[in-house]
Amino acid sequence: MGDTSRIKNVARRVVEQYRQGNQMVVVVSAMGDSTDDLIALSRQITDNPSPREMDMLLSTGERVSSALLAMAIKSLGVEVISLTGRQAGIKTDMVYSKARIIDVDNDRLRAELANSRVIIVAGFQGLNEYGDVTTLGRGGSDTTAVVLAASLHADLCEIYTDVDGVYTTDPRVVPEACKLDTITYDEMLELAHLGAAVLHPRSVECAKHYGIPLHVRSSFNDNPGTIVKEETDLEISMVITGVTYTKNVAKLAVFGVPDQPGVAYQIFKKLADNNISVDMIVQSAMRDGINDISFTVTQDDLHKSLETVEETIKEVGAQGYTYNADVAMVSVVGAGMNSNPGVAAMMFGALAEENINIHMISTSDIKISCIVKNSDAEQAVKALHKKFALDKIDQN
Ligand code: ASP
Ligand code: MG
Repeated sequence: MGDTSRIKNVARRVVEQYRQGNQMVVVVSAMGDSTDDLIALSRQITDNPSPREMDMLLSTGERVSSALLAMAIKSLGVEVISLTGRQAGIKTDMVYSKARIIDVDNDRLRAELANSRVIIVAGFQGLNEYGDVTTLGRGGSDTTAVVLAASLHADLCEIYTDVDGVYTTDPRVVPEACKLDTITYDEMLELAHLGAAVLHPRSVECAKHYGIPLHVRSSFNDNPGTIVKEETDLEISMVITGVTYTKNVAKLAVFGVPDQPGVAYQIFKKLADNNISVDMIVQSAMRDGINDISFTVTQDDLHKSLETVEETIKEVGAQGYTYNADVAMVSVVGAGMNSNPGVAAMMFGALAEENINIHMISTSDIKISCIVKNSDAEQAVKALHKKFALDKIDQN
């Protein structure tokens, strides 16, 4: 909801649906860049704001848009009420700025629906057990919507965004990228975690958990979008459904690590204790009683990781460490790769043809990720998209 003319447009669409006889709960996110603007505002005051006050501040963006949308709907002659996360009964854990919803008390929602009102809920926020406002992490309105859909046993959960749906890759990098008609929860989760910003990862986890199909579609047009659900017919024909990349990664290598039980534990326990989540981990083949262990973290965690590693290498008697923040992770995702041999070879082949060097590799049932030089990332994505013929997918 960029500006008031778009709010009026959303209001028209809501009223249309309502007049077709639907009961509706509409979850809104903040207008345009207003969340970023609020963050910038706080930075003018302090570099180190209290997490509680930060959530108090950021939750206002959604309150603004919920009230404005309610006004717009009301002026079209439909009964409507806006509610904050708290009024909608959303209870979260204690973690400010990335709280998880633990319960929904939907009495108020049910009562308002029974009164034939459209309900507008301020997304991205709830209340913790101290009665304080919490927020759910950037993009968290998606999660509010899915959790409310689950709680109310909704027939449908639609997520409106500024693109037509989920694409085989970022269309800004590969203009030939295709919109997917369907994608599985697991594939969507991988894509969401690996950098595709269409959906809040937690919203996909919740949708999978409650078995709620999501329809991701554009708020600018009526085109059908992408359905996210458990199984897709595509799996049979498509080995790979998406290619994605993230530049928010850094690689660390600890070398000359004694080959003894408990050493990896010491290194990664320290990182975990400092709340650093590690993604890929690779241990080299042992030679002369020592190993090298490499791993990746997000760039935001790099500084803290280096401090931590500096301490642990002394404790475990490793020879030293190096790091490289100038890397990116490129991944191919597809539920079909499980049953199709040769996907890894195809991926490495495509990168070799472009003369792109692979620094690290990791795999799961439905994805393969490679660490490459930052400046190679876009070229790698283009090559992989082409290699797996994602520009020519036939979904019917
Ligand atoms: N306004 C919040 C954000 O920008 C939540 C959302 O948009 O879903 O992250
Ligand atoms: Mg969003």
